[in-house]
Amino acid sequence: MRIMLKVYNTLSKSLEEFIPLSPPEVKMYVCGPTPYDHTHVGHVRTIVNFDFIRRYLEFKGYEVFHISNITDVDDKIINRALEKGMYWKELTETYIKEYVEVMNKLNVLSPHVMPKVSDHIEDIVKFISSLMERSYAYESGGSVYFEVDKFPYYGALSGATKEEEWEQELEFLMEKKRPYDFALWKKAKPKEPYWDSPWGPGRPGWHIECSVMSSKYLGEQFDIHGGGRDLIFPHHENEVAQSECAFGKRPWVKYWIHIGYLTVGGEKMSKSLGNIIIAKDVLEKYDADVIRLYMLSTHYRSPLDFTYEGLDQASKNYARILNTIRLTKGLLREMEVPSKLNEEEIRELKVLQKEVERFFKSLEEDFNAMKAMPYLFSILTIMNKAIMEGKNYPLLAYGFSFLKSFSRVFGVAEGEVLEAAKIEGLVGKLIELIIEVRRRRRLAKDWEIADWIRFELNRLGVRLVDQKDKTLWFIKS
Ligand SMILES: [Zn+2]
Repeated sequence: MRIMLKVYNTLSKSLEEFIPLSPPEVKMYVCGPTPYDHTHVGHVRTIVNFDFIRRYLEFKGYEVFHISNITDVDDKIINRALEKGMYWKELTETYIKEYVEVMNKLNVLSPHVMPKVSDHIEDIVKFISSLMERSYAYESGGSVYFEVDKFPYYGALSGATKEEEWEQELEFLMEKKRPYDFALWKKAKPKEPYWDSPWGPGRPGWHIECSVMSSKYLGEQFDIHGGGRDLIFPHHENEVAQSECAFGKRPWVKYWIHIGYLTVGGEKMSKSLGNIIIAKDVLEKYDADVIRLYMLSTHYRSPLDFTYEGLDQASKNYARILNTIRLTKGLLREMEVPSKLNEEEIRELKVLQKEVERFFKSLEEDFNAMKAMPYLFSILTIMNKAIMEGKNYPLLAYGFSFLKSFSRVFGVAEGEVLEAAKIEGLVGKLIELIIEVRRRRRLAKDWEIADWIRFELNRLGVRLVDQKDKTLWFIKS
């Protein structure tokens, strides 16, 4: 019996069968960063887990259209820029660049669009105007607020059912009708960046951007919306209210997926505790593949307490995976294809196939990579026995093709298992040329251009895997 993919939906608070709105297409929007500071390991957990979800859906034959925004207009950015005496755009550009570098190093598939708020102000103004025309929003003191009382389903996503739980943005209490109304447009204060609008100079509130940019690229209803758990309230609750009022369709999003909290020493990362772990520092000490393996070793919904011991354990596991891949690759080249297997070999092959089945069955249960992990190691053990004995070609070949699938879905050890693309003719030669340009820029320590080339090639479906002395390239299949 075929088992369907089950996904935990924050909206229904239950496991549901995954049936996209118009298969094979899956439209996915993931809330991205607010670039006012370094990318930290909490961001990495969210990025890697959504990358894994996307890779798994693609592996299952879905065509994922993936949008991830950048909140480059926000209170935190404005305050930090003022503190540092920097122009806000200079600040955001620095941290956006760092974020993209971290994504690239972590072998994360580039989203198809990474829309920025500052490029979508006109769309946002139009969206707010349409909410006002239908009286879902009101102007007060040069700002515009969403009137929560007009939306009967408020609280359905977060499960916050009492009005006291909805209170937010209390600094605008004097202007708002209710303490739980929220800003769609904020009147500009002195020294703040602003744009013109029918309500005077100002800038968008935080929540409106995601309703606007998701609908612009994905339409009025789509399949998956996600982000970190901390975004459920008020951010995602407010997005639902705005979007369902604007489009008159329910549910706006079919599946809400949220990544669990990442803590350090059992505490939420914060400046005051001094326990923020910056992604690029960890990337200097650990292989990107090890970090991915670590981030995927806990189920995405469970809390994860970040530790270096955990990363060290992932390093050991990674070494085991690499070792088996390399030995198998070598052996498969040397071994002869047998004409017949003995009873024991057939039995071992069946055991391996059972473990592979269990591995994939675990992933069907809400992308449970953690549950799948022990089966991976059991597969490695079975393969290693065959390697030691130098026999059972079909088992090793089957195991190797499993490791290829594992590598593709987890984004781990891809350079070891994928065969470099052989594209004859001009296109192949041009790709080689671009890779050579990138190599030379890297030698000149021009990381910006080198990373940009990698990012743009990735967007075109050409994936680069850097090895010690060469760069392999693959066409996304
Ligand atoms: Zn968002």
